[in-house]
Amino acid sequence: MAGTFVNEALIGKKDGAGELATPALVIDLPAFERNIKTMAEHCARAGLTLRPHAKTHKCAEIARRQIAAGAVGICCAKLGEAEVMADAGIENILLTSPVVLPRALDRLMALNDRIPDLHVVIDSEENARALEAAAEKAGRPLNVLVDLDIGLHRTGIAPEAAPALARFADGAKHLRFKGLQAYGGHLMHIEGFAERREKSLAAMDVMKSVKDALEKEGILCPIMTGGGTGTFDIDPEANVLTELQGGSYIFMDKQYNDVEGANGNVPFETALYVQMSVISNNTPRLATTDAGFKSFATDAEPPLLRSGAPEGASYFFFGDEQGGILLPKGESLPLGAVLTAVTPHCDPTVNLYDAYHVVEEGVLTAIWPIEARGRSA
Ligand code: PLP
Ligand code: MN
Repeated sequence: MAGTFVNEALIGKKDGAGELATPALVIDLPAFERNIKTMAEHCARAGLTLRPHAKTHKCAEIARRQIAAGAVGICCAKLGEAEVMADAGIENILLTSPVVLPRALDRLMALNDRIPDLHVVIDSEENARALEAAAEKAGRPLNVLVDLDIGLHRTGIAPEAAPALARFADGAKHLRFKGLQAYGGHLMHIEGFAERREKSLAAMDVMKSVKDALEKEGILCPIMTGGGTGTFDIDPEANVLTELQGGSYIFMDKQYNDVEGANGNVPFETALYVQMSVISNNTPRLATTDAGFKSFATDAEPPLLRSGAPEGASYFFFGDEQGGILLPKGESLPLGAVLTAVTPHCDPTVNLYDAYHVVEEGVLTAIWPIEARGRSA
Protein backbone atom coordinates (compact mmCIF):
# COMPACT_ATOMS: atom_id res chain seq x y z
CA MET A 1 0.00 0.00 0.00
CA ALA A 2 1.44 3.34 -1.04
CA GLY A 3 0.79 6.18 1.41
CA THR A 4 -1.25 6.12 4.59
CA PHE A 5 -4.67 5.29 3.19
CA VAL A 6 -5.60 2.46 0.86
CA ASN A 7 -7.60 4.71 -1.51
CA GLU A 8 -5.06 7.52 -1.83
CA ALA A 9 -4.13 6.64 -5.41
CA LEU A 10 -7.71 7.36 -6.50
CA ILE A 11 -7.68 11.02 -5.46
CA GLY A 12 -8.54 13.19 -8.46
CA LYS A 13 -9.30 10.26 -10.76
CA LYS A 14 -12.43 10.61 -12.91
CA ASP A 15 -15.16 8.34 -11.46
CA GLY A 16 -12.53 7.14 -8.98
CA ALA A 17 -15.07 7.24 -6.15
CA GLY A 18 -16.72 4.17 -7.70
CA GLU A 19 -13.49 2.20 -7.37
CA LEU A 20 -12.83 2.69 -3.66
CA ALA A 21 -11.55 -0.20 -1.60
CA THR A 22 -14.59 -0.87 0.59
CA PRO A 23 -16.15 -0.59 3.08
CA ALA A 24 -15.41 3.13 2.94
CA LEU A 25 -16.89 6.11 4.74
CA VAL A 26 -17.86 8.74 2.19
CA ILE A 27 -18.75 12.42 2.52
CA ASP A 28 -20.88 14.05 -0.17
CA LEU A 29 -18.98 17.34 -0.08
CA PRO A 30 -21.56 19.73 -1.59
CA ALA A 31 -24.28 18.47 0.82
CA PHE A 32 -21.86 18.62 3.75
CA GLU A 33 -20.86 22.21 2.88
CA ARG A 34 -24.51 23.24 2.63
CA ASN A 35 -25.16 21.75 6.10
CA ILE A 36 -22.24 23.68 7.62
CA LYS A 37 -23.47 26.92 6.03
CA THR A 38 -27.14 26.37 6.92
CA MET A 39 -26.38 25.90 10.63
CA ALA A 40 -23.88 28.79 10.74
CA GLU A 41 -26.42 31.13 9.09
CA HIS A 42 -29.20 29.89 11.38
CA CYS A 43 -27.15 30.70 14.48
CA ALA A 44 -26.04 34.07 13.13
CA ARG A 45 -29.66 34.99 12.35
CA ALA A 46 -30.82 33.90 15.80
CA GLY A 47 -27.98 35.71 17.56
CA LEU A 48 -26.63 32.45 18.96
CA THR A 49 -23.05 31.30 19.23
CA LEU A 50 -22.36 28.00 17.46
CA ARG A 51 -20.16 25.46 19.22
CA PRO A 52 -20.57 22.25 17.22
CA HIS A 53 -19.99 18.92 18.90
CA ALA A 54 -16.83 17.29 17.52
CA LYS A 55 -17.79 13.87 18.89
CA THR A 56 -19.81 13.48 15.68
CA HIS A 57 -16.87 13.83 13.29
CA LYS A 58 -13.66 13.48 15.38
CA CYS A 59 -11.80 15.21 12.56
CA ALA A 60 -9.63 18.34 12.76
CA GLU A 61 -10.31 19.36 9.15
CA ILE A 62 -14.05 19.43 9.86
CA ALA A 63 -13.57 21.35 13.12
CA ARG A 64 -11.49 23.93 11.23
CA ARG A 65 -14.21 24.26 8.57
CA GLN A 66 -16.90 24.75 11.22
CA ILE A 67 -14.83 27.47 12.87
CA ALA A 68 -14.07 29.12 9.50
CA ALA A 69 -17.86 29.25 8.93
CA GLY A 70 -18.37 31.11 12.21
CA ALA A 71 -18.31 28.63 15.09
CA VAL A 72 -16.63 29.98 18.26
CA GLY A 73 -14.90 26.66 18.94
CA ILE A 74 -16.01 23.07 19.46
CA CYS A 75 -17.39 20.70 22.06
CA CYS A 76 -15.59 17.46 22.84
CA ALA A 77 -17.11 14.56 24.75
CA LYS A 78 -13.87 13.13 26.06
CA LEU A 79 -10.47 14.34 27.16
CA GLY A 80 -8.65 12.22 24.53
CA GLU A 81 -10.77 13.78 21.80
CA ALA A 82 -9.98 17.27 23.11
CA GLU A 83 -6.24 16.50 23.25
CA VAL A 84 -6.28 15.50 19.59
CA MET A 85 -8.16 18.67 18.64
CA ALA A 86 -5.74 20.83 20.63
CA ASP A 87 -2.84 19.12 18.86
CA ALA A 88 -4.48 20.18 15.59
CA GLY A 89 -4.58 23.82 16.68
CA ILE A 90 -8.17 24.15 17.95
CA GLU A 91 -8.00 26.64 20.82
CA ASN A 92 -11.53 26.91 22.20
CA ILE A 93 -12.96 23.65 23.54
CA LEU A 94 -15.80 22.77 25.90
CA LEU A 95 -15.63 19.32 27.46
CA THR A 96 -19.28 18.30 27.78
CA SER A 97 -18.79 15.35 30.17
CA PRO A 98 -17.29 15.51 33.66
CA VAL A 99 -13.60 14.59 34.03
CA VAL A 100 -13.05 12.76 37.32
CA LEU A 101 -10.22 10.21 37.35
CA PRO A 102 -7.10 11.51 39.15
CA ARG A 103 -4.75 10.95 36.21
CA ALA A 104 -7.30 12.51 33.87
CA LEU A 105 -7.24 15.64 36.04
CA ASP A 106 -3.49 15.92 35.41
CA ARG A 107 -4.12 15.68 31.67
CA LEU A 108 -6.93 18.22 31.96
CA MET A 109 -4.59 20.71 33.64
CA ALA A 110 -1.93 20.11 30.97
CA LEU A 111 -4.55 20.81 28.31
CA ASN A 112 -5.66 23.94 30.16
CA ASP A 113 -2.07 25.15 29.98
CA ARG A 114 -1.88 24.51 26.26
CA ILE A 115 -5.01 26.21 24.90
CA PRO A 116 -6.42 29.60 25.84
CA ASP A 117 -10.11 28.66 26.12
CA LEU A 118 -10.76 25.33 27.75
CA HIS A 119 -14.06 24.84 29.59
CA VAL A 120 -15.25 21.76 31.42
CA VAL A 121 -18.60 20.83 32.94
CA ILE A 122 -19.14 19.73 36.53
CA ASP A 123 -22.16 18.08 38.10
CA SER A 124 -21.04 17.45 41.69
CA GLU A 125 -19.31 19.34 44.46
CA GLU A 126 -16.97 16.38 44.92
CA ASN A 127 -15.69 16.83 41.37
CA ALA A 128 -15.61 20.63 41.72
CA ARG A 129 -13.41 20.31 44.83
CA ALA A 130 -11.04 17.96 42.98
CA LEU A 131 -10.82 20.41 40.05
CA GLU A 132 -10.22 23.32 42.40
CA ALA A 133 -7.33 21.45 44.05
CA ALA A 134 -5.88 20.42 40.68
CA ALA A 135 -6.13 23.98 39.29
CA GLU A 136 -4.47 25.37 42.43
CA LYS A 137 -1.63 22.88 42.08
CA ALA A 138 -1.28 23.67 38.38
CA GLY A 139 -1.27 27.40 39.07
CA ARG A 140 -3.80 28.28 36.38
CA PRO A 141 -7.56 28.90 36.77
CA LEU A 142 -10.02 26.55 35.08
CA ASN A 143 -13.28 27.58 33.39
CA VAL A 144 -16.23 25.49 34.57
CA LEU A 145 -19.90 25.25 33.69
CA VAL A 146 -22.51 23.54 35.81
CA ASP A 147 -24.14 20.70 33.86
CA LEU A 148 -27.88 20.52 34.57
CA ASP A 149 -29.93 17.34 34.42
CA ILE A 150 -33.04 18.29 32.46
CA GLY A 151 -34.49 14.78 32.47
CA LEU A 152 -32.00 12.45 30.78
CA HIS A 153 -30.28 11.56 34.11
CA ARG A 154 -27.04 10.65 32.27
CA THR A 155 -24.99 13.47 33.75
CA GLY A 156 -25.93 16.81 35.22
CA ILE A 157 -26.99 17.96 38.63
CA ALA A 158 -30.66 18.17 39.63
CA PRO A 159 -31.90 21.73 38.95
CA GLU A 160 -32.80 22.33 42.61
CA ALA A 161 -29.24 21.47 43.70
CA ALA A 162 -27.58 23.45 40.90
CA PRO A 163 -27.43 26.88 42.57
CA ALA A 164 -25.38 25.52 45.48
CA LEU A 165 -22.88 23.96 43.07
CA ALA A 166 -22.69 27.16 41.00
CA ARG A 167 -22.16 29.14 44.22
CA PHE A 168 -19.34 26.79 45.18
CA ALA A 169 -17.67 27.10 41.76
CA ASP A 170 -18.13 30.86 41.74
CA GLY A 171 -16.46 31.14 45.13
CA ALA A 172 -13.63 28.69 44.42
CA LYS A 173 -10.37 30.58 44.00
CA HIS A 174 -9.03 28.60 41.07
CA LEU A 175 -12.27 27.95 39.22
CA ARG A 176 -13.97 30.46 36.93
CA PHE A 177 -17.71 29.88 36.86
CA LYS A 178 -18.93 30.58 33.32
CA GLY A 179 -22.51 29.39 33.20
CA LEU A 180 -24.74 26.39 32.60
CA GLN A 181 -24.97 23.43 30.23
CA ALA A 182 -28.18 21.50 29.59
CA TYR A 183 -28.47 18.81 26.93
CA GLY A 184 -31.79 17.06 26.41
CA GLY A 185 -30.57 13.90 24.69
CA HIS A 186 -33.91 12.24 25.42
CA LEU A 187 -35.74 14.94 23.44
CA MET A 188 -33.69 15.14 20.24
CA HIS A 189 -35.30 12.22 18.41
CA ILE A 190 -38.94 12.74 19.37
CA GLU A 191 -40.32 12.36 15.85
CA GLY A 192 -43.26 14.76 15.97
CA PHE A 193 -42.21 18.41 15.91
CA ALA A 194 -45.02 19.69 18.15
CA GLU A 195 -44.25 17.21 20.94
CA ARG A 196 -40.48 17.82 20.69
CA ARG A 197 -41.05 21.56 20.77
CA GLU A 198 -43.31 21.44 23.81
CA LYS A 199 -40.98 19.19 25.82
CA SER A 200 -37.87 21.13 24.81
CA LEU A 201 -39.38 24.49 25.72
CA ALA A 202 -40.36 23.06 29.13
CA ALA A 203 -36.79 21.77 29.66
CA MET A 204 -35.35 25.15 28.68
CA ASP A 205 -37.68 26.81 31.20
CA VAL A 206 -36.03 24.75 33.93
CA MET A 207 -32.61 25.94 32.78
CA LYS A 208 -33.83 29.52 32.75
CA SER A 209 -35.15 29.29 36.30
CA VAL A 210 -31.72 28.18 37.54
CA LYS A 211 -30.08 31.08 35.72
CA ASP A 212 -32.62 33.57 37.12
CA ALA A 213 -32.04 32.29 40.65
CA LEU A 214 -28.27 32.69 40.27
CA GLU A 215 -28.54 36.15 38.78
CA LYS A 216 -30.64 37.25 41.75
CA GLU A 217 -27.61 36.42 43.90
CA GLY A 218 -25.33 38.32 41.55
CA ILE A 219 -23.85 35.19 39.94
CA LEU A 220 -23.89 35.69 36.18
CA CYS A 221 -24.13 32.97 33.52
CA PRO A 222 -22.49 34.39 30.39
CA ILE A 223 -22.50 30.97 28.72
CA MET A 224 -25.75 29.02 28.45
CA THR A 225 -24.90 26.05 26.26
CA GLY A 226 -26.79 23.03 24.94
CA GLY A 227 -29.15 21.93 22.21
CA GLY A 228 -28.66 19.53 19.35
CA THR A 229 -29.72 18.86 15.79
CA GLY A 230 -33.23 17.91 16.92
CA THR A 231 -33.89 21.25 18.62
CA PHE A 232 -31.88 23.69 16.50
CA ASP A 233 -35.02 25.50 15.35
CA ILE A 234 -36.74 25.33 18.75
CA ASP A 235 -33.86 26.69 20.86
CA PRO A 236 -34.04 30.26 19.48
CA GLU A 237 -37.72 30.43 20.44
CA ALA A 238 -36.92 29.28 23.98
CA ASN A 239 -34.52 32.21 24.25
CA VAL A 240 -32.50 30.60 27.04
CA LEU A 241 -29.35 29.25 25.37
CA THR A 242 -26.57 31.54 24.20
CA GLU A 243 -24.81 28.78 22.30
CA LEU A 244 -25.85 25.69 20.34
CA GLN A 245 -23.97 22.37 20.48
CA GLY A 246 -25.38 20.59 17.40
CA GLY A 247 -23.29 17.71 16.14
CA SER A 248 -25.12 15.43 13.72
CA TYR A 249 -26.38 18.23 11.45
CA ILE A 250 -23.21 18.08 9.33
CA PHE A 251 -23.90 14.47 8.24
CA MET A 252 -27.43 13.51 9.27
CA ASP A 253 -28.30 9.81 9.56
CA LYS A 254 -31.28 7.51 9.37
CA GLN A 255 -32.32 8.34 12.95
CA TYR A 256 -32.33 12.07 12.29
CA ASN A 257 -33.89 11.75 8.84
CA ASP A 258 -36.94 10.28 10.60
CA VAL A 259 -37.34 13.38 12.77
CA GLU A 260 -39.89 15.92 11.58
CA GLY A 261 -38.83 19.54 11.13
CA ALA A 262 -40.75 22.71 11.92
CA ASN A 263 -42.66 22.81 8.65
CA GLY A 264 -42.43 19.12 7.86
CA ASN A 265 -38.83 19.07 6.70
CA VAL A 266 -35.37 19.68 8.09
CA PRO A 267 -32.91 21.86 6.13
CA PHE A 268 -30.00 19.46 6.67
CA GLU A 269 -29.19 16.85 4.02
CA THR A 270 -27.69 13.39 4.28
CA ALA A 271 -23.99 13.93 3.61
CA LEU A 272 -22.43 10.75 5.00
CA TYR A 273 -22.58 7.28 3.48
CA VAL A 274 -20.94 3.92 3.80
CA GLN A 275 -19.88 2.59 0.42
CA MET A 276 -19.74 -1.19 0.12
CA SER A 277 -19.31 -3.79 -2.63
CA VAL A 278 -20.89 -7.12 -3.50
CA ILE A 279 -18.51 -10.01 -2.77
CA SER A 280 -20.88 -12.95 -3.31
CA ASN A 281 -24.15 -13.69 -5.06
CA ASN A 282 -24.29 -17.38 -4.28
CA THR A 283 -28.02 -17.47 -3.53
CA PRO A 284 -30.99 -16.26 -5.62
CA ARG A 285 -32.40 -12.86 -4.53
CA LEU A 286 -29.41 -12.31 -2.26
CA ALA A 287 -26.18 -10.35 -2.56
CA THR A 288 -23.53 -10.32 0.14
CA THR A 289 -21.54 -7.11 0.71
CA ASP A 290 -18.29 -6.43 2.55
CA ALA A 291 -19.89 -4.21 5.26
CA GLY A 292 -21.29 -5.79 8.41
CA PHE A 293 -21.32 -5.09 12.16
CA LYS A 294 -17.79 -3.66 11.97
CA SER A 295 -18.87 -1.06 9.41
CA PHE A 296 -22.00 0.44 10.99
CA ALA A 297 -23.08 1.34 14.49
CA THR A 298 -25.80 -1.14 15.37
CA ASP A 299 -27.73 0.73 18.06
CA ALA A 300 -30.41 1.87 15.61
CA GLU A 301 -32.27 0.27 12.71
CA PRO A 302 -30.27 -1.29 9.84
CA PRO A 303 -28.62 0.98 7.26
CA LEU A 304 -30.83 2.39 4.53
CA LEU A 305 -29.72 1.63 0.97
CA ARG A 306 -29.29 4.81 -1.04
CA SER A 307 -27.70 3.84 -4.36
CA GLY A 308 -26.61 0.80 -6.35
CA ALA A 309 -29.48 -1.51 -5.41
CA PRO A 310 -32.80 -2.00 -7.21
CA GLU A 311 -35.99 -0.45 -5.82
CA GLY A 312 -37.35 -2.61 -3.00
CA ALA A 313 -33.96 -4.05 -1.94
CA SER A 314 -33.05 -3.91 1.75
CA TYR A 315 -29.93 -4.37 3.86
CA PHE A 316 -29.61 -6.78 6.78
CA PHE A 317 -26.63 -7.45 9.04
CA PHE A 318 -24.96 -10.71 7.97
CA GLY A 319 -22.20 -10.93 10.58
CA ASP A 320 -19.10 -9.07 11.67
CA GLU A 321 -17.72 -8.57 8.18
CA GLN A 322 -20.68 -8.88 5.83
CA GLY A 323 -24.05 -7.39 5.02
CA GLY A 324 -26.88 -9.01 3.13
CA ILE A 325 -28.92 -7.35 0.41
CA LEU A 326 -32.33 -8.89 0.04
CA LEU A 327 -33.43 -8.36 -3.54
CA PRO A 328 -36.87 -8.26 -5.13
CA LYS A 329 -37.91 -11.32 -7.15
CA GLY A 330 -35.98 -11.68 -10.39
CA GLU A 331 -33.25 -9.22 -9.36
CA SER A 332 -29.56 -9.93 -8.82
CA LEU A 333 -26.39 -7.91 -8.32
CA PRO A 334 -23.07 -8.72 -10.00
CA LEU A 335 -19.84 -9.27 -8.12
CA GLY A 336 -18.16 -5.93 -7.45
CA ALA A 337 -21.43 -3.96 -7.62
CA VAL A 338 -21.03 -0.77 -5.60
CA LEU A 339 -23.74 0.26 -3.13
CA THR A 340 -24.08 3.12 -0.70
CA ALA A 341 -26.10 3.23 2.50
CA VAL A 342 -27.18 5.98 4.88
CA THR A 343 -25.71 5.32 8.32
CA PRO A 344 -28.24 4.40 11.04
CA HIS A 345 -26.46 6.62 13.61
CA CYS A 346 -23.59 8.79 12.37
CA ASP A 347 -21.38 9.40 15.45
CA PRO A 348 -20.65 5.82 16.52
CA THR A 349 -20.33 4.78 12.86
CA VAL A 350 -17.64 7.42 12.23
CA ASN A 351 -15.67 6.03 15.16
CA LEU A 352 -15.24 2.76 13.22
CA TYR A 353 -13.20 4.35 10.40
CA ASP A 354 -9.73 5.86 9.95
CA ALA A 355 -10.70 8.40 7.30
CA TYR A 356 -13.40 10.14 5.31
CA HIS A 357 -13.47 9.87 1.53
CA VAL A 358 -14.53 13.28 0.29
CA VAL A 359 -16.49 12.95 -2.94
CA GLU A 360 -17.73 15.56 -5.41
CA GLU A 361 -19.69 14.36 -8.44
CA GLY A 362 -18.07 10.96 -8.54
CA VAL A 363 -14.55 12.24 -7.97
CA LEU A 364 -12.65 11.48 -4.79
CA THR A 365 -11.19 14.92 -4.03
CA ALA A 366 -9.59 14.32 -0.62
CA ILE A 367 -9.12 11.90 2.24
CA TRP A 368 -9.53 13.44 5.70
CA PRO A 369 -8.11 11.46 8.61
CA ILE A 370 -10.42 10.88 11.59
CA GLU A 371 -7.67 11.70 14.09
CA ALA A 372 -9.76 11.34 17.24
CA ARG A 373 -11.28 8.02 16.18
CA GLY A 374 -11.12 5.66 19.16
CA ARG A 375 -10.03 8.43 21.55
CA SER A 376 -12.72 7.70 24.10
CA ALA A 377 -10.52 7.92 27.20
N1 PLP B 1 -24.19 18.09 23.21
C1 PLP B 1 -24.08 16.97 23.95
C2 PLP B 1 -23.74 17.10 25.40
C3 PLP B 1 -24.28 15.71 23.37
O1 PLP B 1 -24.17 14.60 24.10
C4 PLP B 1 -24.61 15.64 21.98
C5 PLP B 1 -24.89 14.35 21.32
O2 PLP B 1 -25.24 13.36 21.90
C6 PLP B 1 -24.69 16.83 21.24
C7 PLP B 1 -24.48 18.03 21.89
C8 PLP B 1 -24.94 16.84 19.76
O3 PLP B 1 -26.22 16.49 19.48
P1 PLP B 1 -26.75 16.10 18.04
O4 PLP B 1 -25.88 15.05 17.46
O5 PLP B 1 -28.11 15.64 18.35
O6 PLP B 1 -26.73 17.34 17.22
MN1 MN C 1 -25.51 10.65 18.22
